[in-house]
Amino acid sequence: MSRAPTLKAKASILFPMPLPEPFDYAVPEGMELRVGDHVRAPLGKRSARGVVWALSSDDGSRNLKSVESVYDAPPLSEAMIEFVNWSARYLVQWPGIVLRMVLRSEDALLPSPTEIQFDVAGDLPARMTEARSRVIEAVTEYGPNSAAELARLAGVTPGVVSGLAKAGGLTRLERPADPPFDAPDPDGPGVKLVPQQAEAADQLKRMINAGGFQAALLDGVTGSGKTEVYFEAIAHALRQDPEAQILVLLPEIALTRAVTARFIQRFGAEPALWHSDQGHRERRRIWREVNENRARIVIGARSALFLPFQNLRFIVVDEEHDATYKQGDGLHYQARDLAVVRARASKAPIVLASATPSIESLANARAGRYAYIQLPDRIGKAVLPEITTIDLREPENRPASGMWLSAPLVEAMAETLARKEQVLLYLNRRGYAPLVLCRDCGHKMKSPDVDAYLTEHRYTGRLVCHLTGFSMPRPDKCPECGAIDSLASVGPGVERVAEEAKARFPDAKIEILSSDTAHSAEKLLALIDRMERGEIDILVGTQIAAKGHNFLNLTLIGVVDADLGLAGGDPRAGERTYQTLVQVAGRAGRADRPGRALLQTHDPEHDAIAALVAGDRDRFMETETMAREVLGLPPYGRLAAIILSARDPSQADTVARDWARQAPNADGIQIWGPAEPRYGMVRGWHRRRLLIRADRDVDLSAWLWAWKKTMKPVSSVRVTIDIEPYSFV
Ligand code: ADP
Repeated sequence: MSRAPTLKAKASILFPMPLPEPFDYAVPEGMELRVGDHVRAPLGKRSARGVVWALSSDDGSRNLKSVESVYDAPPLSEAMIEFVNWSARYLVQWPGIVLRMVLRSEDALLPSPTEIQFDVAGDLPARMTEARSRVIEAVTEYGPNSAAELARLAGVTPGVVSGLAKAGGLTRLERPADPPFDAPDPDGPGVKLVPQQAEAADQLKRMINAGGFQAALLDGVTGSGKTEVYFEAIAHALRQDPEAQILVLLPEIALTRAVTARFIQRFGAEPALWHSDQGHRERRRIWREVNENRARIVIGARSALFLPFQNLRFIVVDEEHDATYKQGDGLHYQARDLAVVRARASKAPIVLASATPSIESLANARAGRYAYIQLPDRIGKAVLPEITTIDLREPENRPASGMWLSAPLVEAMAETLARKEQVLLYLNRRGYAPLVLCRDCGHKMKSPDVDAYLTEHRYTGRLVCHLTGFSMPRPDKCPECGAIDSLASVGPGVERVAEEAKARFPDAKIEILSSDTAHSAEKLLALIDRMERGEIDILVGTQIAAKGHNFLNLTLIGVVDADLGLAGGDPRAGERTYQTLVQVAGRAGRADRPGRALLQTHDPEHDAIAALVAGDRDRFMETETMAREVLGLPPYGRLAAIILSARDPSQADTVARDWARQAPNADGIQIWGPAEPRYGMVRGWHRRRLLIRADRDVDLSAWLWAWKKTMKPVSSVRVTIDIEPYSFV
């Protein structure tokens, strides 16, 4: 009997880098490897971290280098590997670039470090100071903590904490620095669902019971109780499988303490909260707890999609229409769409929720690809706000030059304030004025290396480029003609509207809510808290103020410029304006006081505005949908953009023309361009764009891959492929 030659194992390892494919390594004798394991292996002259993408037997024909070591951590799940491969193919990116979104710092693979924490000892030392008492209070309230954290909570120096410990008032404990999350209790106190909510929740529960992939669209007006419906579905998933993991995606700026507080109230435990403001330590903690299948509920912004769930049983995408789900930097992806892919790979149900669903999701629901669940009414006495327009073309409505609030809006504000109710003035423009120009020579202040105007910010006294972050002090003379004091601010931003409101209502408490005033999560939360407590009379806000908040005493919304957002070459502009205005208007009248929204507009007949006033969403969406269908735009066709950027404009032109020339022939595909986009130069890079439209049944990704592979990379040219672009600037 001949003996089969002993075959050694071979591991294909994918590195989180822009490499075209996984590399093969020999598995050393005695090393047990599973697909998905996190390993280290030699790469060039270094040792690099990667993931075992496949295992096979090694015939020894090639002299392979060996895997160096394997981390003692659970492997990535098969579903995760499938998700990364699928996304990479779809996005026309190397899989390593997608894997880079998944892997976090190496210490998340290691057990939690320990730290010294302090707990109350029972006996107090004889000498107690006020500072020491505050430390004891902090421990009693927040539980054992590190000296630094206790000092922060008590408002004392860490020396007070260690002094108190030495004196015997605190005991030292060695504990994990990244503690596990408490288990949520599915039977925590919830509201009693009204019949239509219960029916919606039952539909989701049936999907969870059935197991396997299924998608649903939960379409319900603002305040109809959608959140309570998906809470009930989450509770059900946890009752069915106490080890289930659940992902709730929210737009970044909706991830406020209010949302967390609702979760804590319902489930009696803090969820893992994943957003861009979380520090390294909290991210490490969440990643490890998710990977070890110990964290049950994660609420997160779009990148939470890439967390290494092991037993993902249910996904919620709230505010599914929100354009910020589209990541426009680095890896371009649409988190809502990839969430559906993730659910399919995990064989789990997913629900997309919104008061203003995207045309894409409505089309999926209509075609029967998604279950369609509707909640047409608000809960309790709350009614949807009455929406009316103020036609700025009428002379009596036209604000004086340099002013932005019309007489009817000012009157409505006065009435509202007299009733001690709150006003939100909405304008999606940061800063004081979007343009500064010289009255003498007409020179417009521009960003030095971008084709964009500088926005004036009065609080900081600077002119800022919102594309690149460039800023400069506001000059006192024109840089072009040298005229003194000739620079004029043109157009309104929130700071200017706040200034006008202050002049009109000097006694009102006025605050601005924009990403400039709320650049940290803490500041944002503080402002929202004050608004909730009624400490602000007039809030002037950008779209950061439009989302998710529940300001019970807010009864008047003034939309300063309802037309903003309708212009430009973006096929989603009408839809997006409509959705934003519905969301803004939906902030009013959330309790038992009716709310109203006044829209200042130059174009009251525009489809989006007229539909808003008539409350006829379906008709508006119908028209928009038909337009997209006729033009073959998403979801009735597919779009992709290729952006080519170079330092040298003529090189950008040449390369863009080369790409256009070498496009593979195919039916059902059109290529537009190359053209110079609105911002033809950003940070000194000259940009050219090719826009591709394909029929729905064309595998656009495959076609783009074929194209990409024929193009020789040029080191001084950047190529960005954007599938389903949202930005057309
Ligand atoms: P949506 O997510 O659709 O905007 P929410 O779930 O936030 O709606 O509900 C709006 C408000 O109504 C919240 O304050 C919520 O607590 C309350 N609510 C929702 N459902 C019920 C219910 N069945 N009974 C009482 N209050 C409810």
